[in-house]
Amino acid sequence: MAFDFSKHYINGEWTASEGDGWIDVENPATLEIFARVPDGTPADAEKAVRAAAAAQEAWAGVSLGRRVSLMKAFLKEFEAHRQDIIDFEVKELGAPVTFTTATHCDYQFTRVRSYIEIAEELPLKAEFKASTVYREPVGVVACITPWNYPLGQIVQKVVPAILMGCTVVLKPSQHTPLTAYFLADAFDKAGFPKGVFNMVSGRGAKLGGVLSTHPLVDMVSFTGSTKVGVQLAQAALQSVKRISLELGGKSPFIWLKSDDYSRAIPKLVSSIFYNAGQTCTALSRLLVPAEDLGKVEEMVREAALKLKVGDPTDPQTDVGPVSSAAQFKKVSGYIRLGIEEGAKLVCGGVPQEGGTGYFVQPTVFSNVSNAMRIAREEIFGPVLCIIPYRTVDEAVRIANDTPYGLNAAVFGPKAEAQAVAMRIKAGNVYVNDSARDVTAPFGGYRESGIGREGGSAGLLEFTQQKAVFNRSTF
Ligand code: ADP
Repeated sequence: MAFDFSKHYINGEWTASEGDGWIDVENPATLEIFARVPDGTPADAEKAVRAAAAAQEAWAGVSLGRRVSLMKAFLKEFEAHRQDIIDFEVKELGAPVTFTTATHCDYQFTRVRSYIEIAEELPLKAEFKASTVYREPVGVVACITPWNYPLGQIVQKVVPAILMGCTVVLKPSQHTPLTAYFLADAFDKAGFPKGVFNMVSGRGAKLGGVLSTHPLVDMVSFTGSTKVGVQLAQAALQSVKRISLELGGKSPFIWLKSDDYSRAIPKLVSSIFYNAGQTCTALSRLLVPAEDLGKVEEMVREAALKLKVGDPTDPQTDVGPVSSAAQFKKVSGYIRLGIEEGAKLVCGGVPQEGGTGYFVQPTVFSNVSNAMRIAREEIFGPVLCIIPYRTVDEAVRIANDTPYGLNAAVFGPKAEAQAVAMRIKAGNVYVNDSARDVTAPFGGYRESGIGREGGSAGLLEFTQQKAVFNRSTF
């Protein structure tokens, strides 16, 4: 059955836009326009904010147990859309189907389950020396999300916010708005009170003003580029709203001296090349001992050339297209820049224009200096920079020489790798092949952001503390 993407979801109803504009959704693998969503207006955003504000107090008064059981009902409906989510993520983002199934779809169910489990146990009241401290919902939260993990970024905000008693207005990315509709449909079918979850589709530049400055909005939770995040935060601070930002990265992967680097290859390849490198945590700078540079180049080249680039509907495909014409242009520009800056092109290169689909071959630059722009700026494409170092101290210095601080990884003997991990300034650091932990806090140091998502930290982000001094004598 074809899903209807023509409306917003406001106050418990699928609602037509006040405007008559549309945003086309393009399949980046075929360049086919296959759907459209409303180009929402400030009046639509206003309506959604008012609905969320009207619902807030009653929702805050609903018990945590009831909120949890509604969220369980949501999860069931959300999981029922599994095939829709996979099909539409492949189509709107161009993410390969095998990767999409695991990461864009099933992992999001894992996240929802994790938030539910943790919320059930989370202490929202604590006795202090002469007071009781309560965790209360922040209020109305505007959630603005990007296109690279369309559902992931939404789940990280909307689910914990609602569990903690906030009401939300979601504005998904205009480039990949479709899977958010399945999430909205699941909220609708789960039976939440009207106005708890609202979604307006449209462009940030048009809706961002209302969402970031409206007096009825208490918090802005944003994931996207540092540039837009800073603009939004500045606007939101005019009325001292709570701000949570998950922004860019230029994350380092330090390989300590080894006789065998092959065990570090899977993590490197999946991080920088899967999702076509459009991952804020991508390990985009590989730091290796200078004396092994040639050997590493060869290994990484071999691994990159093994990746199957192409049709995202093929289960064998590793790397699909980048998401849009704008991304294609941006990534191509950085590859051209890397060559101009004098980095050594190991494989890949500037993609051909005019093809069917925005395909970029996995591209590896070596002998990169950390001063080059390709090593400093977030490329957001399948482009790796290999940087040689001479001592571990130098490796740590290079790793930390970035305005960002979102993610990092260290490969080497366990104790030494752990010691280096402790010296890296980033919100997440992986040691060897350790798996990620859905319950751990996720977020950045420095220009990578403010606040944390995931687990108990991600839930508490949507609360504020109230101390009640209640040891009175009468
Ligand atoms: P990305 O390119 O990774 O999507 P952006 O920062 O451009 O990163 O966009 C992230 C989200 O922010 C999208 O939902 C987009 O529509 C929204 N956005 C873009 N510009 C603005 C703005 N000026 N105000 C509010 N939101 C914006």
